[in-house]
Amino acid sequence: MIENADRVVTLAGNGPVANAGWDDLGIIEHGSVAIAGETITAVGRAAAVREAVTVTGESCVIDARGRMVTPGFVDPHTHFLFAGNRAEEYGMRVEGVPYQKIREQGGGIRSTVRAFREATDDELADAGRARLSMMLRAGTTTVEGKSGYGLSMADEIRALRIIRKLGEEMPLSIVPTFLGAHDIPPEFDGDRAGYIDLLVHKMIPEASGLAVFCDVFCEQGYFDREESKRILLAGRDHGMIPKLHAEEFVPMGGGELAAEVGAVSADHLLVITDEGVAAMAKGGVIGVLLPGTTIGLASGRWADIEKFRRGGLPVALATDCNPGSSYTVSQAAVMSLACSLLKMTVPEAWAGVTRNAAAAIGLQERVGTLETGKNADCLVFSENHPAAVPYRFGQNLVDFVVRDGNLLPSFD
Ligand SMILES: [Zn+2]
Repeated sequence: MIENADRVVTLAGNGPVANAGWDDLGIIEHGSVAIAGETITAVGRAAAVREAVTVTGESCVIDARGRMVTPGFVDPHTHFLFAGNRAEEYGMRVEGVPYQKIREQGGGIRSTVRAFREATDDELADAGRARLSMMLRAGTTTVEGKSGYGLSMADEIRALRIIRKLGEEMPLSIVPTFLGAHDIPPEFDGDRAGYIDLLVHKMIPEASGLAVFCDVFCEQGYFDREESKRILLAGRDHGMIPKLHAEEFVPMGGGELAAEVGAVSADHLLVITDEGVAAMAKGGVIGVLLPGTTIGLASGRWADIEKFRRGGLPVALATDCNPGSSYTVSQAAVMSLACSLLKMTVPEAWAGVTRNAAAAIGLQERVGTLETGKNADCLVFSENHPAAVPYRFGQNLVDFVVRDGNLLPSFD
């Protein structure tokens, strides 16, 4: 039982919401959340919840007076399993060194592919575990995690197996995504068709039992629209739901493609057109924005929130945790960027990291809101107002994390 919170921010209402306003936060003043086992059994005014449930000497009761209770953060787009980092590259980037030069000096995604292939299973699992622990402390209770730094049959399957193993062992839910189409590996330079054949005929069938989603980097210089379509449809034929990295640098019709293949989400969307947004809205595709890349790439560019408002498209937010373009584990930090850079409203940002984020990984029935019958994934914040989280940027205001009904050990 979490009781007497100044505010319980429920985000109640099934499914994603576009243009979220304060009413969509479903705030209950002086509220409580009752939990039995892994499930929420009552949410409401403190007095009503006390009356509805039996509290015994065995019950664990958190006094949330002066605090705020919210759903656990859902992070619907990460590449948390990687080896090494690219801090040096970031240093060069802020000094204005062009990407091509960084690549020539051994940087870029291929350096992470190299580090991944050289790392042992234990080294990769340790690195992943450390990042997941930090995510959990920062309030993330459900996270999507992609392969995509192995780019060979053996290494991609290895990545998915380690992601799944961490999901069994760690106290947070992990949803695995196959991203063999992250880049063309060096051994296939000059033979794109050869790698795409390998993906479609060998890697996707092998990955299908291990991943929920099949993702592709649909971008100029990576996979074009036709190639992306072929890969996503092959994934779909093998039971994996399509998901895309789309419209980050050059418009390629990624929004339309997402709708065409029945994708659950299309992510990045810095250069998407109004037509692309309309196609996504019509097709029920969630837009996932990753403003951490504005920091990691020091680009000064971000998505235009007005396009999504105009098109009535529900928008989610994610860290994109990865060593190249966005090395953060914090959805609270992402909310600060979303509000202050993109000018998303506070309710839009909250919907983006909870209810809409859950929909971006197909879990809206189970997580992302505080409602009776949902998974008991809750955060207790030291502040009592929803705006305080993006406002107090760079600080972790999470006092308690409850995941599947279990109070996680204190982080102090
Ligand atoms: Zn990504």
